[in-house]
Amino acid sequence: MFQSDLGEEAQTTHLAVTIARFEEIPLLLHFSSLDLSQRILDAIAQEGYDTPTPIQAQAIPPALAGRDLLGCAQTGTGKTAAFALPILHRLSSAPVDKSRRGPVTPRALVLSPTRELANQIEGSFKVYGQYTKLRQTAIYGGVSQFHQVRHLQRGVDIIVATPGRLLDLMEQRLVDLRNIEIFVLDEADRMLDMGFIQPIRSIAKAMPAKRQTLLFSATMPRSIMHLADSLLHDPVKVSVAPVASTAALIEQSVYMAPREAKLPLLEHLLAKHGVERALIFTRTKFGADKLTRKLIHAGVKALAIHGNKAQNQRQRALESFRSGKSRVLVATDVAARGIDVDSITHVFNFDLPNDPEAYVHRIGRTGRAGATGIAISFCDGSERNHLRAIERLTGKRIEAMSVPEDVRSASRTTENRTDENRDGENRNGQKRSEGGGSSAKPKRSRSRSNNAEAPAQHQRRKKSSGGAPAFHGKKRNAAKPRAARRSDRRK
Ligand code: AMP
Repeated sequence: MFQSDLGEEAQTTHLAVTIARFEEIPLLLHFSSLDLSQRILDAIAQEGYDTPTPIQAQAIPPALAGRDLLGCAQTGTGKTAAFALPILHRLSSAPVDKSRRGPVTPRALVLSPTRELANQIEGSFKVYGQYTKLRQTAIYGGVSQFHQVRHLQRGVDIIVATPGRLLDLMEQRLVDLRNIEIFVLDEADRMLDMGFIQPIRSIAKAMPAKRQTLLFSATMPRSIMHLADSLLHDPVKVSVAPVASTAALIEQSVYMAPREAKLPLLEHLLAKHGVERALIFTRTKFGADKLTRKLIHAGVKALAIHGNKAQNQRQRALESFRSGKSRVLVATDVAARGIDVDSITHVFNFDLPNDPEAYVHRIGRTGRAGATGIAISFCDGSERNHLRAIERLTGKRIEAMSVPEDVRSASRTTENRTDENRDGENRNGQKRSEGGGSSAKPKRSRSRSNNAEAPAQHQRRKKSSGGAPAFHGKKRNAAKPRAARRSDRRK
């Protein structure tokens, strides 16, 4: 049996369905068909795992065989076990050097971008390796190094670490990586986004060149391919992505909106739909900050999360979003991956991603655990190719909506544009307003029910701007010289 091809209708499982793009690997029906030791099989059986997930089915056999691996997978696909199980198997079945004296030195190192993830991974090692004699520890910043150093001095087989603190301990000569046999770089794209490239390179240099390296990343931009080239030797490439398996529960639509109409449109929709918890994606960190500032200025409680934010800032933003203190979180793709919030009602793609898989990851943040969700994208003239690529990948045409007339006319006034009609029409050349036409019925009923709880702040905006809620900022901008407005618009 082989995994489904790209674009095929995905089955609905809680774990994602595979796109076996790099290599076609048979699906394994049971863990017992993998060459894992009984102690590990017992531990995972206790966890209730019986069938390997697609990434596990693809990654475990070559990893057990000692091959380097380049894995395209994100959290939620079962990727932790995909690298943890072969590590535990290899370390526990390798002969112990009885002549060696002193505490155990680490033989496997997993680098993770954040301390939450490091803790999570270390917990998984503990569970999967409970019947082995292997010891593991997590090393990360933001806390005292005392207990971490004590663990290291007592001897550990596996270290799960964030790069900064590990490098710090290396500089103090408190950790020795000379016996590392297996190195895992997890969430590599997020690591690069957080500026960890130099620490990664320094850490890699401290390990033996002859080792097994496994690199996992949710996306494979050129920077990751470069890094993979320098770290991996003849890697096996495996890839899984959550394809529109949850899409049936996610109502998707796209507004063909000129760039300058995006902000007013977003404000309009945030108010109109009575959005309870919205995640808004921008392409860049700078864009995320800028949009957040503008939303706050318009009275929307918003926070930004991206790789340039400090760990505690990200933590605070997430907490505030999770608890409902701020109902809007503006994020970049990589930063959003650490977000584990269940009841996100809306995902907005303020910018369309140029990687179509990122779209699938983004909208998968809503409609979780069987709940329905709404994904609304904005597409300006320069993003049409991205939209086409997304539709090709998902095999679905996303319903096009036109920008509401009041948003368009206000946008026209403030921007004094002459070409707004170009994008004001949907891709069929028809003009259709929100909720108009039979296919938009669900939206209409949704917005009606949500209107009842339209946020007070929207009403406030309405009052002070004489009935045009969305255009506070723009109106002020209208007084600016044209060149200044143009530079404001630029990211
Ligand atoms: P991860 O992507 O590693 O964060 O895993 C996502 C979730 O899937 C975790 O809660 C794991 O416990 C769970 N999981 C991993 N592998 C399996 C499996 N083969 N069967 C069932 N659940 C799994």
